[in-house]
Amino acid sequence: MQSFEYYASQADNIDFRAECWIDGQFVRSKSGETFENFNPATGKKLCDVARGNGHDVNAAVKAARAAFEDGRWSRKTPGERKEVLLNLAKLIRENITEMALLDTLDMGKPISETINVDVPGAAFFFQWHAEAVDKIYDEIAPTGGRDIAMIRRTPLGVIGAVVPWNFPLDMATWKLAPALATGNSVVLKPAEQSPLSALRLAELAKEAGLPDGVLNVVPGFGEDAGQALGRHMDVDCLVFTGSTAVGKLFQRYAGESNMKQVWLETGGKSPNIIFPDADLEKAADMAAFGIFFNQGEVCSANSRLLVHSSIRDEMIAKLKERAEQIKQGDPLDPATKMGAMVDNNHASTVEAFLNVGKGEANLITGGSRFAIGDSDAFIQPTIFADVPKDSTIARDEIFGPVLAIQTFETESEAVEMANNSLYGLAASVWTADLTRAMDFSDKLHVGTVSVNTVDALSAMTPFGGMKQSGFGRDLSIHSFDKYTALKTIWVKY
Ligand code: NDP
Repeated sequence: MQSFEYYASQADNIDFRAECWIDGQFVRSKSGETFENFNPATGKKLCDVARGNGHDVNAAVKAARAAFEDGRWSRKTPGERKEVLLNLAKLIRENITEMALLDTLDMGKPISETINVDVPGAAFFFQWHAEAVDKIYDEIAPTGGRDIAMIRRTPLGVIGAVVPWNFPLDMATWKLAPALATGNSVVLKPAEQSPLSALRLAELAKEAGLPDGVLNVVPGFGEDAGQALGRHMDVDCLVFTGSTAVGKLFQRYAGESNMKQVWLETGGKSPNIIFPDADLEKAADMAAFGIFFNQGEVCSANSRLLVHSSIRDEMIAKLKERAEQIKQGDPLDPATKMGAMVDNNHASTVEAFLNVGKGEANLITGGSRFAIGDSDAFIQPTIFADVPKDSTIARDEIFGPVLAIQTFETESEAVEMANNSLYGLAASVWTADLTRAMDFSDKLHVGTVSVNTVDALSAMTPFGGMKQSGFGRDLSIHSFDKYTALKTIWVKY
């Protein structure tokens, strides 16, 4: 890592490109409208961003469709696509500081995380999907006789991708890497708070050799550009990461338009269950990481801590100590461990939950919003204990650094409490008893169970939810399923 001064001076020198990226070039929005983009950690304006709307989405879809139909990418061999995406991974690595700064400035997360986690992650996800795609074989059905029935995996066509702001580059990459590797064209709408890394990524993709029109980025607001993509008659599939409420809108948009496929990665309220036989020091370290990493703005954040009553006091003390050690500050300072909330609106939402929590449970530490310099978008790492089962802070996704601790007596009570949520994204279980861990994992209605760790995740394993956390899986070989259709070609000879 470099110094605070180095990152600050690099940030001052960035030339932001924040127009629409359509058919391989930057263009103004058709309306000429823009919106202001701020650094939430300082309150300073970064740039004006093109406010794309339905007209810009139409142009982007048209470019994407033309690229798909003439085969400039869709009919390249998997090996050829692999080479381009590997080039892109390399370019992301070569531009790591700039890419990291873009996400840090846009959404307020520490530079130590964008440099060490987000940007290397994005490069690796492109690399992994590129390397995987020429190792998957099609099938031949066992018809026998003078027949060959081929089952071929074909790209779907034009993919619409709508993503949130919490990991701007990575959330875009989770969609783009498998969609592009399998030969589709894409129109991406980044969140209004964090469009910059997606736009720079599109430029790098062109430099890597991606033909014009294959990747288009339309920044703008959800109600305009996002909805236009969701309702577009020439989009074959809409992939979304974001809130459950907006995910439901995309299902409606599809039903009211062309019945496009919709795949949703939505909200969470993930339980972290700790049994007394676990390594409690490690469990406390990881429980703190599981809720405070990325300011708690993580879909799979371990926001509910379920501890056995015999270790309640000990775990609360350990977590309090860890929460109070977290250094908050300017995200450009490599020593900062927690930055700002993504914007003032979201800081106000989280603050409102803090106030509700104070009436529902016992505040152990934190509980306040505060200012650093000219920005008051900072929230203290906060822990509530003795949280009633059906209280607001036990139920609702807060999407901030707020932990709700509850206690249980028996294993069956822990299962019931863990599953008592409309969400089903992830869960963690801490125990030295492998049989208990496996039994417990079987009973949890979630997409990922982490045993003796939190947020277990890799390019090799699928990520996604059950219940109202959505459906469809990002990452792994299975992510290709969303972006391909099985086509039967039956030959008699
Ligand atoms: P939102 O659902 O508000 O926004 C997500 C995207 O949808 C943004 O690009 C947004 O655009 C767009 N959008 C908003 N309203 C509409 C609309 N009416 N029609 C079409 N598009 C719309 O989520 P947040 O950005 O606030 O992100 C936080 C949420 O994302 C949390 O619930 C979190 O759990 C979830 N999430 C889930 C993950 C998972 O893998 N399961 C991973 C990460 C986050 P704009 O912002 O420009 O208005």
